[in-house]
Amino acid sequence: MSIQLFVPTFRVEECLEEIRECLEKGWTGLGFKTVQFEDEWKKYTGLKNAHFLNSATVGLSLALKILKMENEWNDGDEVITTPLTFVSTNHAIVYENLQPVFADVDDSLCLDPADVEKKITSKTKAVLFVGLGGNVGQYSKIVELCQKNGLKLILDAAHMAGTRVNSEIPGKEADVVVYSFQAVKNLPTADSGMICFKEQKNDEICRKLSWLGINKDTFARSGEKGAYKWKYDVEYVGYKYHGNSIMAGIGLVQLKYLDQDNAYRRQLAEWYDEQFKLFPDKLRIISVTEGCEASRHLYIIEVDNRDELLHDLNEFEIYPGVHYRDNTEYRMYSYAKGTCPNSLYLSERILSLPMHLRMTKEDVDFICEKVIACLTSKIL
Ligand SMILES: *Cc1c(COP(=O)(O)O)cnc(C)c1O
Repeated sequence: MSIQLFVPTFRVEECLEEIRECLEKGWTGLGFKTVQFEDEWKKYTGLKNAHFLNSATVGLSLALKILKMENEWNDGDEVITTPLTFVSTNHAIVYENLQPVFADVDDSLCLDPADVEKKITSKTKAVLFVGLGGNVGQYSKIVELCQKNGLKLILDAAHMAGTRVNSEIPGKEADVVVYSFQAVKNLPTADSGMICFKEQKNDEICRKLSWLGINKDTFARSGEKGAYKWKYDVEYVGYKYHGNSIMAGIGLVQLKYLDQDNAYRRQLAEWYDEQFKLFPDKLRIISVTEGCEASRHLYIIEVDNRDELLHDLNEFEIYPGVHYRDNTEYRMYSYAKGTCPNSLYLSERILSLPMHLRMTKEDVDFICEKVIACLTSKIL
């Protein structure tokens, strides 16, 4: 039996019940379940605004577009970001004609506040922080740094559904938080995401931009229900980025189990930790920041011979992943090559081990045994 990196779990009957409701009502699009999911998400996170979208990628893009528009940033203004992320994060900056400036990561694989500070210039407008694997790293220091320097803060929380810090969902201090509910994230749907602006005004703009720029208020206010529905105004050249009721229905079920599911992920991580901590000379566990109860989207270790270990584990039908390759190694971002030595070093040494709800303690034991055996045979 092979052990895959990610396998999403769905409470199938409950999801089908939500979908059935949509189909029977004849309402699968925007509204209905999307509104319910937004309300439940606000209740769960304590964030003031939440708008359901068809992915986190478009969420990050809208986040930067709206902050740029509302704060009158210019083309070429800089956003400090991490090279250790999924390319969505950095593409979103480029979509808006802003310049990604890469800062290095620390041992948590998240942005290092000391290097972020060094990369601030007169053109810097914002910092984009990724909570890698659901961890927060030194996020609190980044928050202080942004406040001190008058920078906007965008939190890419694609891995952070359910992460808490000192028992609270982080993000209230950020200007905008973006979650992903893509098929293999820790709150999986098929494809969707949530964008949570601190300011309601930005949430309102976002709702228009995610639906072609249409201002629904013009007909909502007319009180003519139905008859003049086509008499809306179009305020922006917006996009088709909003989420739909089928995805939201699945999301509503997933949210009910999120804390329980994340607790099991932390249990799996603990089982890994217990075994790996006996071999500090062979590997380093990428650990979670003190006070952070992480979603545990990922479980990452650092080793000397990563590619060989990956290959050897595949022989045992264990299929780990890498999160992530240093983005400055990609042609698109190669202008920044060499600017983040720690990221490059770590990106060649990290490995994400299987982490999903179908795994048992026996699976973790099996993986640990093989990892240790492979690393030991290399040393001999
Ligand atoms: C998955 C991911 C995204 C993009 O999410 P989608 O919902 O697939 O668009 C953005 N940032 C990070 C760090 C991710 O892992």
